[in-house]
Amino acid sequence: MDDLFLKIIDKEIPANIIFEDEDILAFEDINPQAPTHILIIPKKHIAKLSDADISDQKLLGHMLIKANEIAANLKLDNTFRLVINNGANAGQSVFHLHMHLLSGRSFSWPPG
Ligand code: 5GP
Repeated sequence: MDDLFLKIIDKEIPANIIFEDEDILAFEDINPQAPTHILIIPKKHIAKLSDADISDQKLLGHMLIKANEIAANLKLDNTFRLVINNGANAGQSVFHLHMHLLSGRSFSWPPG
């Protein structure tokens, strides 16, 4: 399976890791779109959010709660944006589910 983020999980590719536990990994995006840009990923291979099912409920909730914790630890002033691009036409380029945690600047709406 060609999955770039599995290589980061396995430490075959280096990344600046912000948080890790047995289920998820959080690391800095290589091409940050904001002063803080962290990717939060499950260690389980799920190609995209729409491939997840009810058995992933706890894992997906865990990702959100840990995003909160990471934001608090980084003192992001309760101001951040979480983004999940699902599918190439929605902007997904790496097919291992990931949540972008962005902060440190103003964000416009609607997103581009
Ligand atoms: P997507 O476009 O799929 O929503 O987001 C993929 C993200 O992964 C992009 O923001 C991109 O900069 C990031 N990315 C791609 N390759 C690497 C890498 O090798 N290391 C890290 N840390 N981030 C990567």
